[in-house]
Amino acid sequence: MDLYEHQARELFAEHGIVVPRAEVTDSSKEAREIARRLGGRVVVKAQVKTGGRGKAGGVKLAADPAAAELTARQILGMDIKGHTVGTVMLAEPVDIGAEFYVSYVLDRAAGRFLAIASAEGGMEIEEVAATRPEAVARVPVDPAEGVTSAKAAEIAEAAGLPPQTVDVLVRLWEVLVREDALLVEVNPLVRTAQGHILALDGKVTLDDNAQFRQARWGADGTGHDDALEAAAAAKGLNYVKLDGEVGVIGNGAGLVMSTLDVVAGCGARPANFLDIGGGASAQVMADGLSVILSDPDVKSVLVNVFGGITACDAVADGIVRALDTVRLTKPLVVRLDGNNAARGRAILDGHAHPLVQQATTMDGAAERAARLAAATA
Ligand code: GDP
Ligand code: MN
Repeated sequence: MDLYEHQARELFAEHGIVVPRAEVTDSSKEAREIARRLGGRVVVKAQVKTGGRGKAGGVKLAADPAAAELTARQILGMDIKGHTVGTVMLAEPVDIGAEFYVSYVLDRAAGRFLAIASAEGGMEIEEVAATRPEAVARVPVDPAEGVTSAKAAEIAEAAGLPPQTVDVLVRLWEVLVREDALLVEVNPLVRTAQGHILALDGKVTLDDNAQFRQARWGADGTGHDDALEAAAAAKGLNYVKLDGEVGVIGNGAGLVMSTLDVVAGCGARPANFLDIGGGASAQVMADGLSVILSDPDVKSVLVNVFGGITACDAVADGIVRALDTVRLTKPLVVRLDGNNAARGRAILDGHAHPLVQQATTMDGAAERAARLAAATA
């Protein structure tokens, strides 16, 4: 689970990393009050779980409380890379001398952590890495040894960071370990004109497997960022939201993943992963369909089932009964094969829903769903 900037900085502060004074609100009126408390001039920052807010107009300086109210009103409700801004943080402005980049990230392939650091912070690190790879230092960190002062000095030296950042590098590692994070990133870490080191932005990704001891985060306690994922989790569904327009339901994780590939191979993009497993009940089908249909990006839905222990007639039955409770608003392509496929297809034919079509092969079904999605786009 990703944390919001204001949550990340709360963790930083608890571990002794200095952050500017700031407060969070969802009201532009209150933004004015906060600006007054912080001394008038403030930076207004959109709180969304994505980077590049500055470029998107989600980070703005306001000269006084009245301007802060106006700016907060502009930023609240703004869409940044598909995230709607619900809250803003108002922070005391900092007089920036230099901007650095520091992060620790899990390197799964190497079975270690990686410290990434650069004296060229502020902009997106991917950009720096692409144009000036020599400006980005990568230092492996053994998880058992961690970041000692010596290790931190090595990282700072490799990246060309000033010695005052060593203390922050050690503390940032403590944040990662104590808070069960897979990623901690500060961009920019700044040296102020007065020579102080401050974390001006923060990104923290927590390990969902440690949710049981990090109950403090996640308003709904599920650890799901996406509203649809939260709704699906509440219904016990194995659902992952993706960015495309073809909704996908299948039985078995392997089959569903292949289905995503085949949909992509047809030039469309899957809208989700949803594995109904061995269950073919009308309830599971109805729950799955209702979650998928409430995704505004979905233009068509593909049900791909290979009948095994759960036979196709049971699945067809589940679909027909699900359609009694869920109003189908988008075309649905069903491919049934395997155990009792003929009986299953006959059940759907008999139901003759105008928005339901059948296909006999996985490729044919994916092609049809992709074409229907393109036609309604
Ligand atoms: P991001 O675009 O989502 O990474 O948001 P950041 O919080 O990193 O802000 C983007 C940029 O705005 C930073 O790199 C800074 O250059 C600038 N910025 C943010 N806060 C301040 C501040 O207090 N003072 C100054 N001068 N610039 C700031
Ligand atoms: Mn940033």
